[in-house]
Amino acid sequence: MAKEQVIESSSGIITTTVDFVFNWARKSALWPMTFGLACCAIEMMATGASRFDLDRFGAGVFRPSPRQSDLMIVAGTPTLKMGPVIKRVWDQMPEPKWCIAMGACASTGGPFPTYSTLQGVDRIVPVDVYIPGCPPRPEALLYGLMRLQDKIMQEHPTQFIFGRGSVSQEEAEGKINQEEAEGTAA
Ligand code: SF4
Repeated sequence: MAKEQVIESSSGIITTTVDFVFNWARKSALWPMTFGLACCAIEMMATGASRFDLDRFGAGVFRPSPRQSDLMIVAGTPTLKMGPVIKRVWDQMPEPKWCIAMGACASTGGPFPTYSTLQGVDRIVPVDVYIPGCPPRPEALLYGLMRLQDKIMQEHPTQFIFGRGSVSQEEAEGKINQEEAEGTAA
């Protein structure tokens, strides 16, 4: 049975994996942190409004506190001055958490190869999804969000929760990939 597969019987019983349930719950209830850095933030606000309706994807509850957020959408130009603040907000968000770099500025510095602009927010926080464009339209942000949800569905939270102590998510996934490769080779 594939990890993501849900088997449903006619008697109303379903069988699936704990990983699937965790991942499905997490990807269906993302709470973005409320902040924007520049023009891309206007597109992010439009994505949350009625025309595009981010709530359809379970990610429309923008939180006013990093302690209640699990998704950071970096929408705008991250300047060197803002860098420590972005990092502090990220550090205050509880695990598990994810990051989307929205637009050219957040991804690479965009049209600002200057002394004052961070050349990509991934220099200070780990980015899961990069969205190109200057600015990206709301459809692009929705697409990026769906790709992040796909990524979340590939995670293995049970490896992290049960019996692995301080093993990180990345280490657990690396171990799994290695085991799969060995199984394929055999
Ligand atoms: S990518 Fe373009 S629209 Fe977005 S913040 Fe930078 S300059 Fe503004």
